[in-house]
Amino acid sequence: MAKALVLEEAKKLSLREIDLPSGMGPGDVRIAIDTVGVCGSDVHYYTHGKIGPFVVNEPMILGHEASGTVVEVGADVAHLAPGDRVCMEPSIPNMTSKASKLGVYNVDPDVRFWATPPVHGCLTPSVVHPAAFTYKLPDNVSFAEGAMVEPFAIGMQAAARAKITPGDVALVTGAGPIGIMVALAALAGGCAKVYICDLVEGKLAVAAAYDNVEPILIPRETPADVLRAATGGWGADVVFECAGAAASIQTALEAVAPAGCVVWVGMPVDPVPVDIVLAQSKEIRMETVFRYANMYERAIALIGSGKVDLKPLISETFAFEDSIQAFDRAVEGRDRDVKLQIKVAQG
Ligand code: ZN
Repeated sequence: MAKALVLEEAKKLSLREIDLPSGMGPGDVRIAIDTVGVCGSDVHYYTHGKIGPFVVNEPMILGHEASGTVVEVGADVAHLAPGDRVCMEPSIPNMTSKASKLGVYNVDPDVRFWATPPVHGCLTPSVVHPAAFTYKLPDNVSFAEGAMVEPFAIGMQAAARAKITPGDVALVTGAGPIGIMVALAALAGGCAKVYICDLVEGKLAVAAAYDNVEPILIPRETPADVLRAATGGWGADVVFECAGAAASIQTALEAVAPAGCVVWVGMPVDPVPVDIVLAQSKEIRMETVFRYANMYERAIALIGSGKVDLKPLISETFAFEDSIQAFDRAVEGRDRDVKLQIKVAQG
């Protein structure tokens, strides 16, 4: 039995003992969880009990953005040892699948992902995880930053899919946690400047505290106009659509330059109409992102080098005992809250 933050059903969380399998395979490590970030998906399961086809039908432990300390390693594990500070990729693909063999294990239909029903998450003091998806943190990267690697990896995937050319000007639609992390990954990937638009001034203020991130407040300003004015009438080389709303999907197509690229990062709750002719008339390239593959080491390298600083995005840290409060605060959706974290480790 272990204590865990359990989503019993929609709108009902409890911090209670739960029976968890604790057996380890030869390729696994046991990790004492230190810090777990609260993600929009965790919050959506809490408020709605489902995301698309994934329905919470039985109690499920939440949490998938985690860092911790290795406490035990399986017989075949060579690259990790007890005491190592690590962060974990929350997905476990079928390593023999065609997707895994192709290197696109994020789209493996068999993938098991923490806190996606029926798979338990990691808001509990100890987890067993494959060593192959457990990554060592450099000494100068804190546990709090380690727990930010998961959402930042989505930004990394988006930047990689965009195939940024040094000096590109980008627009990010939506200044939520993912939007801001996409902007930072785009700058690290070579963009000269990243504009970011949102309806909420507080979110933009957090984003605009970074160098070379320019806020656009809607509806006071129109993103496509701002981008045209900034680029001699041409438009954004890359648009990262991170809001998942019909209006911002249209904004993305209006703001992108001819022969530019739109990366669809945000996930609309329902199908949304897309102006295909507008896209065709500029002959743009479109890319999609589903989580990430092979991005953790690159993300950790950027954070460790100091090129990317995610610390300003950590809005508040709650004790494990106060996990439910952390989720209720996330549901509140305060303007300046970017990432809330839960410190699971004691002391
Ligand atoms: Zn997440």
